[in-house]
Amino acid sequence: MKENINILKNLSNEEKKIFNSLQNEGPITKSEISRLTEIKLTTLNNTMEILEKKRIIVREAIGQSTGGRRPVLYDVNLLEFYIIGIDISRVYTQVIIANLKMEILYKEMFNMDIFCSPQETVRRIYEIINKANQNLRLDSRNLVGVGLGTVGPLDIKNGIMISPVNFSALGWSNVPIKEMLEKKLNCPIIIENGVNAAVIGEYFYGIGKGVENIAYLNCGIGIRTGTVLSSKLMRTISDDEDALGHMIVDVHGEKCKCGNFGCIESYSSINAIIKKFSLEVKKGRKTIINKQLKNIGYKDICIAAERNDNLSKEILIGAALILGTGLVNYINLLNPGLVILSGPLIINSKLFYNECIKTVFKKLHPDRMKKIIFSRGGFFKENAISIGAVALVIKDIYN
Ligand SMILES: [Zn+2]
Repeated sequence: MKENINILKNLSNEEKKIFNSLQNEGPITKSEISRLTEIKLTTLNNTMEILEKKRIIVREAIGQSTGGRRPVLYDVNLLEFYIIGIDISRVYTQVIIANLKMEILYKEMFNMDIFCSPQETVRRIYEIINKANQNLRLDSRNLVGVGLGTVGPLDIKNGIMISPVNFSALGWSNVPIKEMLEKKLNCPIIIENGVNAAVIGEYFYGIGKGVENIAYLNCGIGIRTGTVLSSKLMRTISDDEDALGHMIVDVHGEKCKCGNFGCIESYSSINAIIKKFSLEVKKGRKTIINKQLKNIGYKDICIAAERNDNLSKEILIGAALILGTGLVNYINLLNPGLVILSGPLIINSKLFYNECIKTVFKKLHPDRMKKIIFSRGGFFKENAISIGAVALVIKDIYN
């Protein structure tokens, strides 16, 4: 797969500038490209000719005439080049194929059950990519790169998932995931924390365009956070992403997996919600969910809550109150202009999201509240991590 992998990275600075302007603003005219890139017309003409020969840019269509000859519009080539974005989370793994403008051409996912060891997960990813290649008739020589967003803590430099907790299958400890995928797919992989990838995607291409301070939360098995501060991705020493999940909201609270007491994750994560639900049913509470207790998942609880099941509603509202409280602390600490809540719990339960925001409204100072935009799911919704992984590949061109 690796023949063309550096095609965009190996472009000259001028070529990259033109590519960047078209990727962000295309289709546009040559004079607009000249204005955006500040490249003089003669150099621009020569460089664009080279880019057209390489088929990286194309003449898109004929634009509106402002009197006189109608101008030619240019854009990046959306038909030939493609990027693979992978999201390995604890609930699911998702693979997407996107074009040079982050538009999804193919998407497939599978649940991370007890059989999804690292080896099996890599095998299934490989299978999906092969299937996508056949369906879309992709030419592997036009693969620009592969990005992976996954669960921390990570050793990003060496591509190792250090000790993520709560995977259903065994074997998820010290996993050299980058090397495993590179061997199987036969091409280099860019690896990043899933929520970092998501916030990068939203910052460059999504709802966060032009917002200098963004807090991104992914609420699922963990409470994962990615943060852009002063237009820079906030990095921590071990690229942990679950700091908010282990923020203590009750000093005498419930015991958490991390050994502490009263962490947000012990109340507001998928596992905490299922555990609480199960406890209440065992105590004799009634529910409309018609399933064996051991088979009831968080989605059943989310759906039942939408259908007015009192127990499900009560549990989700309780969990959202705790997460909302933690979120208020987080907002006070970082002062973001945009807060994106995403992840399986947010995507599957409008009630959970609304209650969370309600809590923030109640507890956050009104002056601060006025300056924040809240978003359910951001622009890329349930695709945010894999689209973010695609964004990493694009951004790597300029490194
Ligand atoms: Zn904890």
